[in-house]
Amino acid sequence: MNIHEYQSKRIFARYGVPIPEGDVATDPAEARAVAERLGGPVVVKAQVLVGGRGKAGGIKLARTPAEAEELAARILGMTIKGLPVRKVLVDQALDIAQELYLGLVIDRGAKRVVMMASAAGGIDIEEVAATTPEKIFRVLIDPFLGLQDFQARALAYAIGLDKALARPFTRIAHGLYQAFVGSDASLAEINPLVVTGDGQLVAADGKMNLDDNALFRHKDLEELRDLEAEDPYEREARLHGLSYVKLDGNIGCMVNGAGLAMTTMDIIKLYGGEPANFLDIGGGAQADRVAAALRIILSDENVKTVLLNIFGGITRCDEVARGVLAALEQVPRSPAGAGTKVPMVARLVGTNEEEGRRLLAETGMVTAATLEDAARKAVAAAKGG
Ligand code: GDP
Ligand code: MN
Repeated sequence: MNIHEYQSKRIFARYGVPIPEGDVATDPAEARAVAERLGGPVVVKAQVLVGGRGKAGGIKLARTPAEAEELAARILGMTIKGLPVRKVLVDQALDIAQELYLGLVIDRGAKRVVMMASAAGGIDIEEVAATTPEKIFRVLIDPFLGLQDFQARALAYAIGLDKALARPFTRIAHGLYQAFVGSDASLAEINPLVVTGDGQLVAADGKMNLDDNALFRHKDLEELRDLEAEDPYEREARLHGLSYVKLDGNIGCMVNGAGLAMTTMDIIKLYGGEPANFLDIGGGAQADRVAAALRIILSDENVKTVLLNIFGGITRCDEVARGVLAALEQVPRSPAGAGTKVPMVARLVGTNEEEGRRLLAETGMVTAATLEDAARKAVAAAKGG
């Protein structure tokens, strides 16, 4: 679950990370009131669950409350990367001398949380990682020992931070680490971590990604979910209990079971194709859920074909096929070639598989008895064969 900048920064602040004073507003008058209360120049920031808001014009400096109101009106009408702006954060403007980067993610290869720091902050860190990786410094954190002072100091030294700032930097690094672990986050970052003109460190931006599988033990964090601000398809997937991750390929995947879904993606790649998504529809064959899965997959314009890979173990294949047929009824047929006009390849094995395949073949679906065969056919269909 992604949360907004203002929510992330409030969590950081609870762990002792300094943040600018400010508050959220949902309309221009409210933004003006916040600016009046803060006094002095403010920065008006679009609260949307994507990065790069600055570049998109979603972050503006205002010298007066009247200007804050005007800018808030403009930003609240914007759509950034497809997401409408419904809230703005009005923060005390900072006098920025330097922009640093400080972040935490899980390094699955190392089986550790990794803390990263860079003097090249403020800009897109993925771009820094791609073009000048030597500017990013990392320390791996032992889960039993936690972040050690010497590790934070090493990072401060590596990014060339003024000696006087080593101690506050270490405190912020500890706070961020505690916020990360305490919230079961998968990402926590401050970009930029600002060095102000008078030599203070302040988290000007904040981003957190919380592990959905741990939210049950953070009821207070679950409440931060902003349903309106989430991607509509990811929201639909979650409401139906589907695990869905959008990818860049063109072969939509609908599979029962996470392991089988990963195998399906691998085998698509093996045969020269690219999966458009990871999707686990779970057990059973409820038509509503299959229909939701299909709608979500087909909402992606890149999808040229759909590969349905079902292992009928507990659920019989003919039942699954009937679920798919009922689902197809629910997905609108579009003359433009979208909807169910997208070719579908179905690999169905298990109890009553012949019956299941026969039912699906009647709808014009290509069927396959093996995963290799299905992958080959799906790749060919995606390439227009
Ligand atoms: P992002 O573009 O979505 O990552 O949003 P950020 O909050 O990181 O803001 C982008 C950029 O706006 C920062 O890197 C700063 O250069 C600038 N910015 C943000 N807050 C302030 C502020 O209080 N004062 C000034 N002068 N610039 C700011
Ligand atoms: Mn940022």
